Amino acid sequence: MLQLENVTHAYDGRVVLSDVSLRLTEHRIGLIGANGSGKSTLARMLNGLIVPDSGRVLVDGRDTRKHAREIRRRVGFVFSDATTQILMPTVAEDVAIGLRGSGLSAAEIDAKVDAILDRHGLADHRDHPAHLLSGGQKQMLALASVLVTEPEILVCDEPTTLLDLHNVKVIERTLRELSQQIVLLTHHLDSLADFDRVLVMDDGRIVFDGEPGEAVAHYSGLMDRRARERAQAGAVEADRPSADASALREPGR
Ligand code: ADP
Repeated sequence: MLQLENVTHAYDGRVVLSDVSLRLTEHRIGLIGANGSGKSTLARMLNGLIVPDSGRVLVDGRDTRKHAREIRRRVGFVFSDATTQILMPTVAEDVAIGLRGSGLSAAEIDAKVDAILDRHGLADHRDHPAHLLSGGQKQMLALASVLVTEPEILVCDEPTTLLDLHNVKVIERTLRELSQQIVLLTHHLDSLADFDRVLVMDDGRIVFDGEPGEAVAHYSGLMDRRARERAQAGAVEADRPSADASALREPGR
């Protein structure tokens, strides 16, 4: 189980997570919110990539501050830009690197690599240079490279943001078939329709926590309100005389 207890975090003195407490026990959990609302920071805390300034993040009761290595093994993390996650020259080597130090023999590693490449539609690209894969294939490789290590929990930080619609569907289908617990950050709201729970973040806080349909409605309302506020602020700004115009009205000019 993933748990946040009174988590607060700031970058350069600016608070981006504000007293967040959560217990995440459901199989599939979505996390949505405007850019900059704090989603990535929260997601990275779930596998110890970031430790909070104050409060605690626990994975099955174990504090990410004290058990970083174990927690990183148990909680896989997929980034939105697969190129940042691809480390090795060939597709097979990239998948295999996660199994280094696992105690498996070379033959066992090969078998696991082949099985996962097959399952993710990459078997024909086994010995190809990873950087020559398409965007969708790179994202699939990033996912396969994490899944080969058999994490108990998977955190995906907008894994479909850079993909075309076809590849969005392919990745979504792959994620849907996983048996492990998944926390998915996404801007593709339809992909959350059958999720068990969806959290909405705004300005470093969880502002809605519940069923996907209601979460998406809440988020849409929030975005509409923000757009109206920006439009009003723009109108007020437009009504205000510009510096040059007021300078023209200064006495004596
Ligand atoms: P989201 O994933 O919702 O877009 P983030 O967690 O990435 O939100 O960012 C929350 C806020 O923190 C944003 O204003 C972002 O610019 C800022 N931020 C994120 N990472 C850093 C960092 N490493 N250093 C400074 N500011 C950061």
